[in-house]
Amino acid sequence: MKIICIGRNYSDHAKELNNPIPEEPVIFLKPDTALIHKNEPFYIPDHSNEIHYEVELVIKIVRIGKNIAENFAHKYYDEIGIGIDFTARDVQRDHKAKGLPWEKAKAFDGSAPLGDFLNKNSFDDINNLDFRLEKNGEIVQRGNSKDMLFSFDQIIAHVSKYFTLKIGDLIYTGTPAGVGKVEKDDQLECYIQDQKLLEFRVK
Ligand code: ZN
Repeated sequence: MKIICIGRNYSDHAKELNNPIPEEPVIFLKPDTALIHKNEPFYIPDHSNEIHYEVELVIKIVRIGKNIAENFAHKYYDEIGIGIDFTARDVQRDHKAKGLPWEKAKAFDGSAPLGDFLNKNSFDDINNLDFRLEKNGEIVQRGNSKDMLFSFDQIIAHVSKYFTLKIGDLIYTGTPAGVGKVEKDDQLECYIQDQKLLEFRVK
């Protein structure tokens, strides 16, 4: 399986990092070794002094597909979950300045904690879904899927032009504003609406 991530999908987050608003989805990948399953700790890697959390809604692909039309994209995912796209911001800044690819900043071991999923039919409207990240009991990021520049269905249509989607693939759909640094011993908890779907400790 592969993990596909969308960058700069919320204009308030693009602005906080002084990035332009993209005209089409920004795509990058993480390997399966990036995954951390529910409640396992995240270990800060040695190669960074500035690991940022980015809370993101995640969709799980349930059908194989290529060049999927936007109006059929909803058939390719049944569940929505939540995860963190951990980012070595210092490494990313350095690599961006040098025009190098982002993998050391984005795709390292443990950079993709993943929580539980909920059936999309359990929500009134998946395009109006509140989610948030709490760090040590305080809300640090709040988002709503209505503020995504590219919707779940638009993302699937775009991504599948380049990559055949396979069963079990995950798409991290971008983070809202409020990204920040994690420190050893931080406790992170992720919610969709009022359901806690992921919690783990930083070590
Ligand atoms: Zn992200």
